[in-house]
Amino acid sequence: MKKFLLLLGFLMSFNCNAEQKIVLIADPAVLAIPIHENNESLIDLANQKEIAYGPAPLVPDNKDYTKMRKTVYEKLLKAQSTLPDGLKFCLYEGARSLELQQNIFQERYDILRKADPKKTHEEIFTESTKFVSPVINIDGSKNVPPHSTGAAIDVYLIDKTGKMVDMGIHLDDTYKDITGEYCQTNSTVISEQAKNYRKMMGKALQDVGFVNYPTEYWHWSYGDRYWAYQTKQKFAVYGAALK
Ligand SMILES: [Zn+2]
Repeated sequence: MKKFLLLLGFLMSFNCNAEQKIVLIADPAVLAIPIHENNESLIDLANQKEIAYGPAPLVPDNKDYTKMRKTVYEKLLKAQSTLPDGLKFCLYEGARSLELQQNIFQERYDILRKADPKKTHEEIFTESTKFVSPVINIDGSKNVPPHSTGAAIDVYLIDKTGKMVDMGIHLDDTYKDITGEYCQTNSTVISEQAKNYRKMMGKALQDVGFVNYPTEYWHWSYGDRYWAYQTKQKFAVYGAALK
């Protein structure tokens, strides 16, 4: 097991290369963090008007993407009130079922395998975790994907008319970004305007306690393992809220 973790650690640092050391969501150090579930309820954005949401991502007729934990919702509201005039958040996706999570992971895995069939299963699996958290870890153990907890939200900014501002890449197009260089929060290949919007969004969310996943400018969380790891908490407060 120890040998395996060392190998996984090596592959991760290898894939992330030296310029920006990113701790992946499936990193053993993140997965080792205990969860003390606080049983907080989920808020459904469909029952409120402050935070915009939609259209539904990924699969047609997906109506189950608008929920998040109560504290996460309250923090998002607070963050929105600090955004420059005319800008608002739009939720792309909140809590996600494990079944949908597994499908999305498999989809990403298949795309990466097609792009480079010579890579090993381990390499493709690790690469996939840069974008999607697995339901089952590579060693066969169960994972708690951040989007199953109601702690993670995928958001972007919209203007007064409800249109998405230039964030560099639309969330619907991320499958085209095989190298991940457009999705990366600190992307150097997007326009100056997009860099600015990402900074504005990041500041508002960070100031209320959210943590970003650096490979995805849109992914923020509060209370899950990744948040606990990045903020040096002893435990996460949200486990799987959706089965
Ligand atoms: Zn996400």
